[in-house]
Amino acid sequence: MIKPHTCIYEKVGFEDSYGEHILQNFLGARWVSKKIVCNEAQSQFGSSIDVALEKGLQEFRNLLGSKGGRGGDGPTLKGISDTEGVKYNLKPGGIPEVSAPVIKSQEIPFGTHIKGIIGNTKQLEWLVHELNKYCPNANIDLAQIRANITSEQGYLESYLHLQPTIGGADYFRGLLKSAFNLLGANASNIALLPCFDCVRNFILNGSGSADTFIRWYSSFPETDMIPILSNFDHFVCVYSNGCNVDGLVQFFGGIGHIIRLADSYEGEKFKFGYLVNPLRDSEPAETRIPDFNSALVPQFDDGYIKPGQEVRTVYKAIIDAFLIKYSELSVNKEICRIIDEEINSNDQNETIQQIGVKIAEKLALFIASRNNRKNEI
Ligand SMILES: [Zn+2]
Repeated sequence: MIKPHTCIYEKVGFEDSYGEHILQNFLGARWVSKKIVCNEAQSQFGSSIDVALEKGLQEFRNLLGSKGGRGGDGPTLKGISDTEGVKYNLKPGGIPEVSAPVIKSQEIPFGTHIKGIIGNTKQLEWLVHELNKYCPNANIDLAQIRANITSEQGYLESYLHLQPTIGGADYFRGLLKSAFNLLGANASNIALLPCFDCVRNFILNGSGSADTFIRWYSSFPETDMIPILSNFDHFVCVYSNGCNVDGLVQFFGGIGHIIRLADSYEGEKFKFGYLVNPLRDSEPAETRIPDFNSALVPQFDDGYIKPGQEVRTVYKAIIDAFLIKYSELSVNKEICRIIDEEINSNDQNETIQQIGVKIAEKLALFIASRNNRKNEI
């Protein structure tokens, strides 16, 4: 019996599959096709190269707190050290929580004042254990700590060390898959041509080298090169003007690479793109027909094969630009949160003026914490 679809990776026939995300689910994209990738290949990708790509981008996703295409929350980054050596778990949205008990002591006139800090009450017994190790004669018990516990929320005064690891063969295989999926979803007849066998095998089995298909940006991509929906879009494109089949895959508004899927294509010219806002706060939140000029996007032959010093400078500028946009976003979010919190607090006896004063006090505290940080840079 003839199967209705042909897998663009294994070139074998199959019935409707569960559905392959053109761009990986963790990126918050919703375009799914049941016609391009068989279930076996999908499950292989899901436990290998999709994971590698997700890991490489996890810092960006964590900070933005963007959800998956099927809704799931992003990762919590565990054990991130700050400039003072304290470790934090960073929850989605870049929210830090102390990951292990911290003990701080201070000499006072008639003894020592000891303060224990924990991220949540699950760490309470752990704290007692650590405190008794710290001062063995004190005989601190759980009840004593429970009686003295206070909850505090504030702004971090230190800086967190985040080290995104962009690149690596499996990361690039995952990245190339999104572009090859895009080609398959638009024109599976083209994706099945023999000129794509090399990239097909690299994505499927890792055979060959990423150097054949990937280039690093050699300069900061100008803003008019790539269409936008928001500050943090993913953009995938693949096109051919004859002979080469090139494209671009860019994540979170800038973390991108230039790609070449084939260099001996003989068919008609084509151009496909996919643009997704992972925060989904724009209308539309994604488009399968973004308007872009393939001559203006960064070109494969202008890119670098290896990430040397010049490349590092470019990607540092890209990450800095991301952090500036992220900082603007988080300031807006925090201001909204402060106002909502006060307006929704249940105290019926408060006058509008009193609420206004409280909001002003909290905003002042927030602005002061940011100004202190700026002075430290
Ligand atoms: Zn397959």
